[in-house]
Amino acid sequence: MTACRPADPAGIAHAARLLRQGGLVAFPTETVYGLGALATDDAAIARVFEAKGRPAVNPLILHVATTAASREFAAFDDRAEALAAAFWPGPLTLILPLRQAAAISPRAVAGLDTVAVRVPGHAVAQSLLAQVGGPVAAPSANRSGRVSPTTAAHVLADLDGRIDLVLDGGPVQIGVESTVLDLSRPGRVGLLRPGGLTRAAIAAVTRPLDEPSSSPGEPVRSPGLLLRHYAPRTALRLEATDVAPDEALLAFGPMPPTGAVATRNLSAKADLAEAAHNLYAMLRELDAVGARRIAVMELPATGLGEALVDRLRRAAETPPDTAP
Ligand code: AMP
Ligand code: MG
Repeated sequence: MTACRPADPAGIAHAARLLRQGGLVAFPTETVYGLGALATDDAAIARVFEAKGRPAVNPLILHVATTAASREFAAFDDRAEALAAAFWPGPLTLILPLRQAAAISPRAVAGLDTVAVRVPGHAVAQSLLAQVGGPVAAPSANRSGRVSPTTAAHVLADLDGRIDLVLDGGPVQIGVESTVLDLSRPGRVGLLRPGGLTRAAIAAVTRPLDEPSSSPGEPVRSPGLLLRHYAPRTALRLEATDVAPDEALLAFGPMPPTGAVATRNLSAKADLAEAAHNLYAMLRELDAVGARRIAVMELPATGLGEALVDRLRRAAETPPDTAP
């Protein structure tokens, strides 16, 4: 059994003690719930991969309370300093060179010489990280490949019995993961994963971003991007303009007339922030209604919509075991 406690001061202090002792604690951030473990504790990090069923090649994002704390293990250049000053705490993850003297578990960075780091903006996460006093690796608190959790109940649905504690801080604000930027190569700013911070906001601080590097001959910059992800068990059909009687409907904006098995609207007023906030909870709800398929209406791939469309596309990919 996994304990679940409100994220009040006593709960947060207990969670910090557990993390320092090598425990696994799920906690809210402004993006999604993270599954935390002390990044300097190799055994604790091994348990994170085991609890999630996460492939060992997929490195974890390290979370700290302040930019100063991240400089102990990540090497900042001027661009990284400017981005951290502009957006931390917030939904931005930076990939930076790993400092060789750092005591980070090699497993946490999947053996790479780079490290992903973020200062989250959620008050519970901030207080917890400050009390732990060291970097906390925190991938999303779901089984690998499945829908990310935006409530404590979602975490328990996936990880009950596999982790020590869930800190319940209520539903998260943003609802999609952080934007991941690769700054590990001089002169290049690569967007590895669109997320809670928009491309336009970042480009106002740096120059325009390089596209994700999937061109032939280029090494894969972010191992996690190869994998099917964010997926409910029910198949998805994207850019739907109609819906069959045995499908569920995930709508956006004004709804078409529907005889669907069940319907949820990401945002009746077509607001992308509202849609991000609702996306994962609604996918979980529609996954549970026994429909043959979930039909998803089109969303604009601009602003926060870039992250939403990215997640829906990955969720819709044919699972490897049923590929033709
Ligand atoms: P999550 O599993 O939701 O925490 O996502 C973390 C993402 O960051 C995954 O796509 C990882 O592959 C990526 N990531 C973490 N560390 C690195 C790194 N050192 N280099 C490139 N990508 C990374
Ligand atoms: Mg994840």
